[in-house]
Amino acid sequence: MSDVSYNAFTDAQKQFDHAADLLDLDRATRDLLRTPLREFHFNIPVRMDDGKVKVFQGYRVMHNDARGPAKGGIRFHPQETIDTVRALAMWMTWKTAVVDLPLGGGKGGIICDPHNLSPYEQERLCRGWIRQIYKNIGPDTDIPAPEVMTNAQHMLWMLDEYEVITGSRQPGVITGKPVGMGGSLGRAEATGYGVIIALREALKELEIDPSTTTASVQGFGNVSQYAIELYQQMGGTVKCVSSWVQDQQESFSLCKDDGIDLEELKSITNTFGGIDFSKAVKMGYKMFPGDEWMNQEVDILIPAALENQITTANVNSINKSVKVIGEAANGPTSPDASKLIDKKGIYTIPDFLANAGGVTCSYFEQVQSNMNYYWEKDEVLSKLDIKMTGGFIAVSDFARSNKLKMRDAAYVISVNRVAQACKDRGWV
Ligand code: NAD
Repeated sequence: MSDVSYNAFTDAQKQFDHAADLLDLDRATRDLLRTPLREFHFNIPVRMDDGKVKVFQGYRVMHNDARGPAKGGIRFHPQETIDTVRALAMWMTWKTAVVDLPLGGGKGGIICDPHNLSPYEQERLCRGWIRQIYKNIGPDTDIPAPEVMTNAQHMLWMLDEYEVITGSRQPGVITGKPVGMGGSLGRAEATGYGVIIALREALKELEIDPSTTTASVQGFGNVSQYAIELYQQMGGTVKCVSSWVQDQQESFSLCKDDGIDLEELKSITNTFGGIDFSKAVKMGYKMFPGDEWMNQEVDILIPAALENQITTANVNSINKSVKVIGEAANGPTSPDASKLIDKKGIYTIPDFLANAGGVTCSYFEQVQSNMNYYWEKDEVLSKLDIKMTGGFIAVSDFARSNKLKMRDAAYVISVNRVAQACKDRGWV
């Protein structure tokens, strides 16, 4: 994201064009799916703690809702752009389709750095975002959720503002809410756990015992921490993690040959997933430059930070030992780097399949909120496992029988489902 020449939407369109070619899609369907159905750009004036008003730029993009209401998170990031939101919205359409949820794809964002905003300013920003978009979202139309640098508290402020404006209780309008306030048990774990469920299935196919494997993970936020938790429960060893250091505006990697201690690192990590590196070094971790997580002698790489992290510029620093990449982040690998990874014979679990656990559990949360009846955690997690395993096996079978890579197979399945829904509705 920090590379100014990078455009996530260009990459997302390139990936779509390739899938459209594989499916031999007609012109009208390509035109419909290549760009979002609708998008909203707006200013959000916020009264700051010093009494002055600051205007933030906000977005909501609905890429496609032929299969059901749009669904997707709201990201807070200083480098957010409308093209990043468009790409993320398009990837949401493919993600909901690949695990066969009755939902479409959307995404939202605000250009801001919450590190520099007080909790009161963040609350006013959340409420301001809702004031601008409340007419265009809803439990039956478009359901936002947390994303990078947004959390359950942000979702609750947004829900409250929506309910105050509409004069009704509408817990199904937003997911990722706190448990006890309309949130689902298991939602916090869902994306990271889903990545590891997909990884478990991939290792089964490759006949590799997870407990003999080692991994290196980029990022140490929500997705990464829960992915590491389940991977360690399966007996795997995480040798390296990386995270962003706000003061220095760059990332670093932290490594330990005999494996990181998840709880120990969590205890020195802020709510944005930023690790206190000086404390980690005192605890015995070795500190390296940001890209070093890729260079580790491990079996598995899990990019779980942001898009465009594995590119043609650094793909050759991937260690020869790597056998599997589980793409936990959205769009972590550029299309050109992905081709080179395929040539190296590394097995990739593509992003919108690997990280579909988040939206799957968001869907469960929406169902529970709409019924106002909440399930036990075990029930949520077992339903998550069924959906993720089913999605993985469908893609893997299709890849094998059509001699496709996993990414191409996932794209063909998803784009075909969405194209068919558009046709069935008579849109194209
Ligand atoms: P988060 O904000 O909780 O954590 C992000 C982590 O990445 C932090 O540890 C941060 O320090 C680190 N980071 C940022 N820039 C970095 C860099 N250049 N190098 C190394 N580390 C860096 O975000 P999250 O919710 O864990 O999301 C991570 C990724 O997963 C994103 O791509 C997001 O779109 C995707 N995703 C999230 C969910 C979800 O439910 N949260 C669902 C699907 C996909």
